[in-house]
Amino acid sequence: MVNMNSQERNKIIQALENHGARLPCPRCGNNNFSLIDGYFNHSFQPQISNNVIIGGPSIPSVAVVCNRCGFLSYHAVGALGILPTQTQNNEQIQQEPKANN
Ligand SMILES: [Zn+2]
Repeated sequence: MVNMNSQERNKIIQALENHGARLPCPRCGNNNFSLIDGYFNHSFQPQISNNVIIGGPSIPSVAVVCNRCGFLSYHAVGALGILPTQTQNNEQIQQEPKANN
């Protein structure tokens, strides 16, 4: 299954390179990586609790996997400047702490 088209993949790879993500794998020193074919959405919560918050704030990310040892590194697409609706998502993240005050 292919989720990203080649233009999208190239845009992400270019953004990673432009932001200096070019060093070898921090675990094994390998220089070959693969971009995972899809996006991750890491949810986070304001404090530790036993409750799972559904629909709370999250960080959209892409992941790169080391082709030798499988080390995964995640990169926030907002920091890479490739978030399609970056203004909307920043507003959503900024609104969350206000709701808890
Ligand atoms: Zn590695």
